Amino acid sequence: RFITLEGGEGAGKSTQAARLVAALAADGIPVIRTREPGGAPGAEAIRGILLGQGSWDSIAECMLHFAARREHVARTIRPTLEAGTWVVSDRFTDSTLAYQCFGQGVSRSVFDALAAVALEGLKPDLTLVLEIAPEEGLARAAARGDSNRYEAMDTAFHARVRAGFRAIAAEDPGRCLLVDASDSPEGVAAVILKTVRTRLLP
Ligand code: C5P
Repeated sequence: RFITLEGGEGAGKSTQAARLVAALAADGIPVIRTREPGGAPGAEAIRGILLGQGSWDSIAECMLHFAARREHVARTIRPTLEAGTWVVSDRFTDSTLAYQCFGQGVSRSVFDALAAVALEGLKPDLTLVLEIAPEEGLARAAARGDSNRYEAMDTAFHARVRAGFRAIAAEDPGRCLLVDASDSPEGVAAVILKTVRTRLLP
C-alpha cells in the first residue's frame, strides 16, 4: 500500500508520517517512511538544488521536481511496493500540483504530461491532506527554525497553495481525505490511523 501525506508549510506532515509508520510497524506491517523532494540519492541531490538560493523558470522548476520524483519512484517506491512493503511518503505529486501549478501558475497540461512520463500510472492508495491556515503553518515552521526560499514566499502564494490542496482533495475524494491539522499531534495521528485502518486494512 502507498500512502502520501500532503499539505502546506508547518502542517505537521513529517511528524505524522513518523507516527503513522511507527503505528503500522507496531501492528506488524512492513513499512518504510520516505519524503519528497528526495527519497533516493539523486532525488536528495535535486532537493538540495531546489531548496537552495536562486530563482527558476517555473516550468524548469516543475521538471526538477518530476526528475527527483522519477528517481524516487524508480529506485525507492516501486521496488518497495513490489516487495510487499508499505510506503508512507511525506509529500508526493499533489505537492507539485499545489505549489507549482496553483502556486506558481504552471499549466495543468504541462503537469499532466510530466506526471505521465515520470509516474507511468503510479497513484497513492490514500492521500491525507493536512489542512492548516498558512499563517499558523508558517509560524510553526519558523518556530522550528526551518526556513527556505519557499517559506519566504508571500502570503498570497501560500493561500493559493492551500486552495490548491483543497481542490485536489475535493476532486478525488476516493483517494484523498482532508484532515484538520490545527488539532494536537495526538489528535491528528488518531484521525490518520483510523482512516488508514478503515480504508486500507481488511
Ligand atoms: O516538506 P518540506 O518542508 O521538507 O518541503 C521542502 C520545501 O519544498 C517546502 O518549503 C515546500 O514549500 C517546497 N516544495 C515545493 N514544491 C513541491 C514540494 C515541495 O515548492 N512540489
